[in-house]
Amino acid sequence: MSDVHPPSGNLLQDRIILITGAGDGIGRAAALASAAQGARVILLGRTQEKMEAVYDAIDALPDAPEAVIHPLDLESATEDHYRELADAIGDQFGRLDGLLHNASLLGNLTPLQYFPADRWASIMQVNVNAAFQLTRALLPILNLAGDARILFTSSSVGRKGRAYWGAYAVSKFATEGLMQVLADELADTSNIRVNSINPGATRTTMRAAAYPAEDPGSLPTPEDLMPAYLYLLGPESRQLHGQALNIRDLL
Ligand code: NDP
Repeated sequence: MSDVHPPSGNLLQDRIILITGAGDGIGRAAALASAAQGARVILLGRTQEKMEAVYDAIDALPDAPEAVIHPLDLESATEDHYRELADAIGDQFGRLDGLLHNASLLGNLTPLQYFPADRWASIMQVNVNAAFQLTRALLPILNLAGDARILFTSSSVGRKGRAYWGAYAVSKFATEGLMQVLADELADTSNIRVNSINPGATRTTMRAAAYPAEDPGSLPTPEDLMPAYLYLLGPESRQLHGQALNIRDLL
């Protein structure tokens, strides 16, 4: 976790951007980087203290708009929760300019034969079903924005299956499918641009859980990726739609 202030600017000036899993890892870095570029960031996550820490870090940035904390556990959230969230954003801001689906569960790396069914269901719920439900609830206010972005977070194991990656890998394939279906539906009917991103190996808690023997110092930090995230959330990426992108290719 870096204490270095992200570069400030006005790339995302006046944009309202919701980030899931904003309390840690890549989501935390995206929240800070977006706020530093002028966005009003809605921090969604399940651990209140982590989001408060991100809120405070944003508050300490020069000229960054105040963040909004929205606690929500994506494993247990219901239709009512998503509707209430959409209504609250609509009432307060009148639109939503960006939605970064970033929260995910990794689970254990286990052969399919031994993969616990309840764990499978939890991972699919957080990584896929919640992204669908959240997107569905927020589409009306994303359409009100005029130039909104939806980014789904995938992984290399969501593009080519790999032994033992179980529900996580399958959930990322489903994430790609969700992105493609939505992008096709919106291509000619909306100004919302929809893509998926693979951040690549990044120095976070999730990566350390998957590769405990790896030297984290050998990996890029979440902050290193932020120029690509900002580009994809900002006005310059308008021409990208329905694509499975690699963050590293954009840096
Ligand atoms: P982290 O584990 O560091 O952060 C994940 C975030 O998701 C945390 O803030 C976590 O909250 C949140 N989250 C998990 N479950 C829930 C839930 N039920 N409800 C709400 N929030 C939840 O992961 P990364 O930053 O590494 O990963 C970010 C994204 O990038 C993920 O989609 C991941 O699959 C993807 N990715 C990461 C790679 C890497 O090398 N790091 C490589 C490829 C893809 P809490 O902190 O409270 O647990």
